[in-house]
Amino acid sequence: MPEIDHSPAAQVPRLTRLAPTPSGFLHAGNLLSFAATYALSLHLNLEILLRIDDLDRDRLRPEYLADIFATLEYMDIPWHHGPRNPDEFSTQWSQTLRIEHYNSLLNALRDGGHLFACDCSRTQLLNGAYPGTCRHKNIPLSQPGVAWRLKTDPGSRIGIRSPGPATPPMPLPPSMYDFVVRKKNGDPAYQLASVADDLHFGVTHVVRGEDLLPSTLGQLYLASLLPFNTFPETVFWHHPLLEGPSGHKLSKSAGDTSIRHMRAQGLSPADICTATARMADPLAAPQNARELGDWLLQRQGII
Ligand SMILES: [Zn+2]
Repeated sequence: MPEIDHSPAAQVPRLTRLAPTPSGFLHAGNLLSFAATYALSLHLNLEILLRIDDLDRDRLRPEYLADIFATLEYMDIPWHHGPRNPDEFSTQWSQTLRIEHYNSLLNALRDGGHLFACDCSRTQLLNGAYPGTCRHKNIPLSQPGVAWRLKTDPGSRIGIRSPGPATPPMPLPPSMYDFVVRKKNGDPAYQLASVADDLHFGVTHVVRGEDLLPSTLGQLYLASLLPFNTFPETVFWHHPLLEGPSGHKLSKSAGDTSIRHMRAQGLSPADICTATARMADPLAAPQNARELGDWLLQRQGII
């Protein structure tokens, strides 16, 4: 019989997540992030949750949802928890099934006096940082058609735990000043739902692209205002983004880098992993997702 480890560390499951959005076909940038998550999970003995963010109903398409499962299976990236197929996702794991949970967090923020209502139009908000237009208007939060914003303090400093060397606390970036936590249509906003889900599932390690660092800072700020907050214990690794051949960041608009397209061209999983790494390193030749993730972990000095 195997010996059972009763130390506290052994009893706390350590969990990371793959968190794709079904709003486009997955591309090489997504693959790199998934591969890095997978490789880190093997090094740190983490379990993996597949968490698909589908609150943005306008951009969701069934073929994008199916593409997530097809790509993970083709690239041989495993996960321990979460849906195994689109049907299971829709009936058991969709974010639309956790609206009450999101609302309980929103209500806790509201009851703590951390929110204000904003009725600014989209055109009023085109220029980046929110200028605090509605902060002192005292618009009732119960008024229909208003967004709920978090009152943020620009002087605050936010610490992030990372798997690499410690970094000093960072200020909240201007793009996250008074950010929206509930949209005008009443839906929870991405930042709120993401924090709520990570707390709900007990995620301990988050791997994401460095473009999401402002989002992480905003989420840590939000979590610090909740009555029950374990979020500061979460370890975050923000990896660099790959650049495409012309120097642009890989994105969903770049159809030629979609995994689906590469498969249709006859590329094997090994070919796709090598092509992805070679966007940054002409000598790299990872043969599978784990090796692709390890390549990035080594490049960034994590292992
Ligand atoms: Zn406003």
